[in-house]
Amino acid sequence: MECFYHNGTPACGICKSCQRGICKNCCSEVQNGIACLSRCEKNAIELDEMIESSKSMQGKSTTLIKSVGLGSGEIFHIVLGILFLGFGLYKHQDFMSYLGAVFLVFGFLGLFRVAKAKSKKKS
Ligand SMILES: [Zn+2]
Ligand SMILES: [Zn+2]
Repeated sequence: MECFYHNGTPACGICKSCQRGICKNCCSEVQNGIACLSRCEKNAIELDEMIESSKSMQGKSTTLIKSVGLGSGEIFHIVLGILFLGFGLYKHQDFMSYLGAVFLVFGFLGLFRVAKAKSKKKS
């Protein structure tokens, strides 16, 4: 593979953002990889930040759900979901609305499971 910007120069890696081969002279080191120097640097860093923040969000919400979910009902999840979602949307806090959505999904999934189990018992 050759560098996308320099004909004949072997590429040392692939840009995280545009997936082009780039050589040592035009690559910039970003977290967990390289990116085109001054072209894709910003994009790659933003991409990393997005991935990192979504990872930590997922971790936070699952631990919260686990701590809340122990011994409490599905209705509680749904109520919490509506509260979080409403608050998040009202306050424009993405994390809150994300959390609310997760709670709602978990709550409805739980209700669905309970309803299924109940209908099985009847028949
Ligand atoms: Zn690039
Ligand atoms: Zn190059």
